[in-house]
Amino acid sequence: MKDENCIFCKIIDCEIPSEKVYEDQTTYAFKDINPQAKVHIIIVPRNHYENVAQLAKADPKQLAHMVQVAQQLADEEFHGAYRLVFNTGEDAGQTVFHVHGHILTGEKLDE
Ligand code: IMP
Repeated sequence: MKDENCIFCKIIDCEIPSEKVYEDQTTYAFKDINPQAKVHIIIVPRNHYENVAQLAKADPKQLAHMVQVAQQLADEEFHGAYRLVFNTGEDAGQTVFHVHGHILTGEKLDE
């Protein structure tokens, strides 16, 4: 399930370069190009869904897996402490319409 116009589908397919931090059969994670924390990782499913609500409906196990991977990465980066954000909808700040979690970690975060 790909969208040929989607920038994150192109990153997953290595058509656009990225700083990969994790990959498996279903999931890919890479450094955000404009970090909002000491460590800012974007985590995506390889399959294209527009947002987290669509993913939760279509494939809840994939969403749970992404949370587990986020935990694993934060365990490595900052004693398991992290913020996981899914901007959903243009008015909430979503600019890329391939579901992605922002993993913010690596330092104590502002409240
Ligand atoms: P959104 O605003 O929640 O949709 O998040 C999109 C995120 O993708 C932003 O934090 C961008 O900095 C990030 N981003 C956009 N293009 C790239 C890229 O080519 N590489 C890495 N991160 C990107």
